[in-house]
Amino acid sequence: MDLFEYQGKQYFARYDIPVSPGDATDSVDEAVAIADRIGYPVVVKAQVKVGGRGKAGGIQLADNAEEVRKHATNILGMDIKGHTVHIIWIERSSDIKKEYYASFTLDRPNKKHLGMLSAQGGVEIEVVAEEDPTAISLLSIDPIKGLDLATAQQWVKDAKLDDEAQAQAAELLVKLYRCYTEGDCDLAEINPLILTPQGNVHALDAKVTLDENASFRHPEWEAFRANETEDPREKMAKEKGLNYIGLDGTVGIIANGAGLAMSTLDVVNQVGGTAANFLDIGGGANADVMAAALEVINADPKVKAIFVNIFGGITRVDEVAKGVLGALEKVTINSPIVLRLDGTNAIEGRAILAPHLNEKLITEPTMLDAARRAVGLANA
Ligand code: GDP
Ligand code: MG
Repeated sequence: MDLFEYQGKQYFARYDIPVSPGDATDSVDEAVAIADRIGYPVVVKAQVKVGGRGKAGGIQLADNAEEVRKHATNILGMDIKGHTVHIIWIERSSDIKKEYYASFTLDRPNKKHLGMLSAQGGVEIEVVAEEDPTAISLLSIDPIKGLDLATAQQWVKDAKLDDEAQAQAAELLVKLYRCYTEGDCDLAEINPLILTPQGNVHALDAKVTLDENASFRHPEWEAFRANETEDPREKMAKEKGLNYIGLDGTVGIIANGAGLAMSTLDVVNQVGGTAANFLDIGGGANADVMAAALEVINADPKVKAIFVNIFGGITRVDEVAKGVLGALEKVTINSPIVLRLDGTNAIEGRAILAPHLNEKLITEPTMLDAARRAVGLANA
């Protein structure tokens, strides 16, 4: 789960990482009230889960209430790279002497953590990496050993941060590493990490990705979820307890098992189609689960055909067939359904469906045949 900047800053603050005082709101009046409270000048910042907000006009300085009102009005509702701004963050404006970059992320192939630090922050790190890779100091961190202050002190020297920033930056990096590991982040990034003319180092931006696999030990993450701008299809699927990921194509996909669902996406692509979703209905494909799955896919206006790919193992195909018929009694499905049913009790399953087959309920003998049929219908 990606956090908004303001949530990331709140997360940082738990680990004592210095951030500017501020508050979030979805209203112009409240934005002015917040600014009055924290004191001018302030920055009005669009909260969207995409970078480059500054360049898009989503970050504006304001010296007084009138300017806050003007910028808040402009920024709320603004579109930034396809993301609509619903929330703004108002924080005390900082004077900037230098902008640095700092992050921790997973280095999966080496089974380590990777720290990145650069004296050239503020701009996109990809640009720095391309134009002057030596400007980024990489630190490979053994997760057993962690990051100690001495290592961080050497690191800030290697990255050539300004002398006056080094001590504070090293301390901040140790805290950021703690936040990243103890906080179960996949990514904790500060860009820019700034040095002020007064000689203070603090985080001006925050990009945090939480590892959802750790959500069981973080009940506090629920608060972040409340403001998640979720795909409405994914929201509906989550409410129905389905393992669903929305995609952009036209073939709705239902399969049992994550591996088979992924193979189904591949085979649909292979025969020239595009998948509308990933959906694994797991082991117990009874009528309720099948109805829920069909309902979610049916609600997606892009879907032109539905491919149900079942390989019965513990799941029995006759149960799946009953599930499909049961589901069709409960919901009216707009698109044709193509089924590939194989494995345990496949013969019984196909026999159950046989009397009900028509141009909107079709079976095919193999996965490839079914993919071709579904893609043909979707592309027709
Ligand atoms: P991003 O564009 O989405 O990465 O948003 P950032 O939060 O990183 O802000 C982009 C840029 O806006 C920063 O690199 C700064 O140059 C500028 N900016 C943000 N906050 C302040 C501030 O408090 N004071 C000043 N002077 N500039 C700021
Ligand atoms: Mg930034």
